[in-house]
Amino acid sequence: MFSNLRNSIRLTTRSANLGNILSRMSSTATQAALDASKLVIHKTENPKQKLPNEKLVFGRSFTDHMLEVPWHKTSGWGTPVIKPYGNITLDPSAIVFHYAFELFEGMKAYKDAKGHIRIFRPDKNMTRMNKSASRICLPTFDSEELIKLIGELLKLDKSFIPDQRGYSLYIRPTMIGTTTGLGVHAPEDALLYVVCSPVGPYYSTGFKAVRLEATDYAVRAWPGGVGDKKLGANYAPSVKPQLEAASRGYQQNLWLFGPDKHVTEVGTMNFFVAFQDKNGKKELVTAPLDGMILEGVTRDSILNLCKEKLDKSEWTISERYCSIKEIQEKAQKGEVLEAFGSGTAAVVSPVKEIGYDGQHIKIPLLPGEEAGALTKQIAQWIAERQYGIVESDWSRVID
Ligand SMILES: *Cc1c(COP(=O)(O)O)cnc(C)c1O
Repeated sequence: MFSNLRNSIRLTTRSANLGNILSRMSSTATQAALDASKLVIHKTENPKQKLPNEKLVFGRSFTDHMLEVPWHKTSGWGTPVIKPYGNITLDPSAIVFHYAFELFEGMKAYKDAKGHIRIFRPDKNMTRMNKSASRICLPTFDSEELIKLIGELLKLDKSFIPDQRGYSLYIRPTMIGTTTGLGVHAPEDALLYVVCSPVGPYYSTGFKAVRLEATDYAVRAWPGGVGDKKLGANYAPSVKPQLEAASRGYQQNLWLFGPDKHVTEVGTMNFFVAFQDKNGKKELVTAPLDGMILEGVTRDSILNLCKEKLDKSEWTISERYCSIKEIQEKAQKGEVLEAFGSGTAAVVSPVKEIGYDGQHIKIPLLPGEEAGALTKQIAQWIAERQYGIVESDWSRVID
């Protein structure tokens, strides 16, 4: 009996030890967080020839290096590596190729007058990237760690950031599911990578106002859908309607939604329209963030700046839906002041006409110019903050 007791005591101690070992094993097996201090850098031995500024085309040429961080379900985030820009090799059955486990971000780095690198509100992009990742079962991460890693990539490729006003370095953080096999399930492996492309002003000759085709036969996003996430799956289906609009002489789609034909977004930009009623009261309108609208960093910046700077006795800033009918009726009464799209690539893109139901809705521009007064003012306010001409906590100095 005593020996039995001893045995059972020994067993309990042994199982307690086993428990310790197991819990230690599982703590080493807990998922590692994304950690910028683990960064490894392999520099290129073949630096690229840089294009002169006037030859830069959006998203066509890339810098010398890229950032890669692998992730695995049990081990978590692996070692971040900066290495020469180059191909990614994946199994043809990788889940990204079949079920669109892909998301991306778009942000920019600018060189200021003193030669410092600045990025504009990167925390907003990181928050949005984490929301996109979470929606398609890809891993989330600490935003500040990825900002640090992107900062290291920018420092290494600093010579690619053009220093002319209007020029910048477009940064494309991307995440894909890389698990092999054709089952539809949550990815067990992922790859986060970041590439950078030097870019010129969206319109080489200042602004260029565009014509939009109000589109109701195709829908960009819907309630309960993923229109508010930057998932690759949202973009492929938008190209055919754009080609159709282009065949009728329009540069972009003005996406409508629902029985009231609410205006949601324009192409891959948020949409703003300014009205003025017969008493002179002005209103700047953009669609509310109801799950269908992409939460643009530029949109948010414009709303903040307009609330701060526009005269409150004159202006109302509204996040509300307006219908294409409202725009049409107000345009007929001369109550539409101007309209523009907003996004990182072009900042603001002025609109001069909307085609709807066989009608041409004319949107005013300043006489002899390609934008309205407010559109120009907003473009200036934002550029001053991006290039650090006006200091603000929106602009982060990297180096
Ligand atoms: C990226 C994007 C925008 C603009 O977002 P920014 O953060 O301002 O660049 C707007 N609409 C759609 C559909 C987008 O993909």
